[in-house]
Parts: sequence; structure tokens; C-alpha cells
Amino acid sequence: MKVVLQNLTKIFPSRNKKNNEEVVAVSDFSFEIPSGKLVGLLGPSGCGKSTTLYMICGLQKPTGGKIFFGEDDVTELEPENRGVGLVFQNYSLYPHMTVKQNILFPLQNFKGENKLSKEVMLERAYEAAKLVQIDELMERKPSELSGGQQQRVAIARALVKMPRVLLLDEPLSNLDARLRLQTREEIKRIQKETGITTVFVTHDQEEAMSISDLIVVMKLGVGQQMGHPQAVYDDPINLFVAKFLGTPPINVFNGRVEKGVLMIGDDSILSIKDVPDQEVFVGIRPEGFIPDEAGTLECQVSNLEVMGRDISIVSTHEAAISPIIRSIIDADDMISGSLKTVRFRIKPNKIFLFNKTTEERIRFEVK
Ligand code: ATP
Repeated sequence: MKVVLQNLTKIFPSRNKKNNEEVVAVSDFSFEIPSGKLVGLLGPSGCGKSTTLYMICGLQKPTGGKIFFGEDDVTELEPENRGVGLVFQNYSLYPHMTVKQNILFPLQNFKGENKLSKEVMLERAYEAAKLVQIDELMERKPSELSGGQQQRVAIARALVKMPRVLLLDEPLSNLDARLRLQTREEIKRIQKETGITTVFVTHDQEEAMSISDLIVVMKLGVGQQMGHPQAVYDDPINLFVAKFLGTPPINVFNGRVEKGVLMIGDDSILSIKDVPDQEVFVGIRPEGFIPDEAGTLECQVSNLEVMGRDISIVSTHEAAISPIIRSIIDADDMISGSLKTVRFRIKPNKIFLFNKTTEERIRFEVK
């Protein structure tokens, strides 16, 4: 089931009598989620991710725009008639009910011609429990489960209704680091097995990149870029997206283009074509630095962090905007630990230029 958001807008009225300022939580947001894909909705706190999700499921009414599931316009439909399964960060299980009763609960609310027999309900509850691998725990109460197990129950409860669309709001936030990793793989597996179109909200870019077929990056209620995680990482549309994706983050410098040469401070980095002389922001991904005595970017070394396979060189440069520059190099390219300065050659495909005012990407070709 494909999901289409068309010019979706949500404005909350002001609660502050003094300034009367409305909150534009989501602004003119359009995108299409292909059928059967897992889409990660990504952005910093307050950018409108949850509001978007709640509009898809019907808990919030849009101020403007439309939502389609397939060809059906569901904008005015009540949540219970949309065929969505929603999983929250805090599981929201009923504490006095067993796992089985929790999973059965949504089915018991089916009325009229949708009403199911007891046998069918049980069959579906066990099917959902098996899918998330908690069928051994059906008689326990939520308090007798780990956080990861509780989240699986919440997912089973969402799946048991056989939703057309599955919506996950920060489902891993309450889990410890190890369980987060494990559960995110589980979510990917379940999504693949069921083929349900899924929207996954998170502020954790690594999490979103690792499990999503597509990511959508949002900023202040506005969709910035959508695409395959690697494609967005390799080809960010603006400085915000470039900075938001990647660990360690992209290194940003004040630079300028002068007669076809990209300069950072006094260092000439690259000869480029088709960019008029101007001040620019230069973003360089950590994996774009290659230590080379003949390299053109000279940095002051602060320290080396050995990470096993890779080494992180922490250095500074007078034109860098961030206080430190972090470059990741192969351990085989190890530089001497006693060096005070290091010269880098920069991989051209790891350099991005951005307009100083709009922060939009400036594309260039290497001369
Ligand atoms: P987080 O990651 O912190 O959950 P988010 O990206 O999900 O953030 P939303 O919860 O969608 O962001 O909120 C977007 C904006 O709308 C924020 O500025 C928030 O304060 C505001 N907002 C959300 N719900 C309401 C509401 N019911 N009334 C007024 N403003 C709201």
C-alpha cells in the first residue's frame, strides 16, 4: 500500500496569550512512500516528525493538505478506520493484562461484520506473537518482561490487526544500546516478512540509515530531502542535511573559490570548474582525508584515537568552523604519533560546497 502525503501542513494555535504566535509544526510537506518500503522520518527534536506520523494515523487533523493510502483519500477518516498500526516509544501496554490479552485486545474491538470468532482471534494473536518471537511469553504480564520484549509485544499488538500501514514512533528509545541494535534488526526482519509499508520516526540518523529503504530528512517542519540513505549521504542537498547525516559528522570550513581554485585559508585544495569566485562553506566527510606529505590541506594534530581497524586523527585548522576536525583513516596509513602537523590530500567526491547565505549545495566539476 503506497502512502502519499500531499502538501501536508499542521499549525497549532498559540497557547501564549502575550505573543499569539502559532506553531507551524509541519509545512507544505509532500512525499510518496512506495508500497512495502520502510521509510525513516528523521530530524532533530521538534522538527515535526511525530506530528507527521500522527497525521498519517489520524490522531492529528492536518490544517491543510491530503493523505492517500493507495488511491483512497484518508484525510478525513477516523484513526480506527484507516487500517494503521501504531507503536509508541513507551510501549503503552495494559499492565494488568497478560501478553496474550494485550495482543488480543485490538481484535476484540472489531464490531459488526468485522467481528472475529474466538478461534480466529487466538490464531492471529499467536501468528503475530510468533513473528516477533514472543509466543513463549503469552501468559506473562508486561512487568515480567524486559524492555525489548515489551516493545515486541507492542509491535505484535499493532500487527495483529493486519494494518495497511505500520507507524513506529521512536520505538527503540527506551532500550539500552545492545537491545537497540538487536531490536532494530528485528524490526527490519518483521517489516520484510510482512511487506507492510512502514514509517519509522527517529532522531537517530545512524538508526534510520541502517534499517530504512528510504529516509526523509526534516527541519523545522519542512521536508529537506528524501532518498536511499547512501544516496542522501553521498549527495546532500544542503548544509543541514550534510551535517545531520554521518558519524563522525562532516567537517565544515570557511572557504572560497578564487579563479577556479578552491581555497581553505591559505591552502589550495582543488582546481574546479564552473563555480564563480565567492565565499563558500566547505564540507569534508571524515573518510575524505588521506594523509599525504604532498597533500594541500595542512592541519595541526591534537591527538590520534586508535579504533582498531581505523584511526581517527583529531586536528585543527584556522578556517574550520567546528573546533576540531575529525578524519578517519585506515590503520595501515598510520601516521607518526609524534607529528605536530599533518598534510591531507582530499578525495574530491567527499568535498561538498555550500552557498554562504542559503547553505544550498553548489555543484562543481574537478578540473
Ligand atoms: P521530538 O523528536 O522531540 O519528538 P518531533 O520532531 O517529533 O520532536 P513534534 O512533536 O512533531 O516534533 O513537534 C513539532 C513542533 O510542534 C514542535 O515545535 C512542538 O513544540 C510543536 N507541537 C507539537 N504538538 C503540539 C501541540 N499539541 N500544541 C502546540 N504545539 C505542538
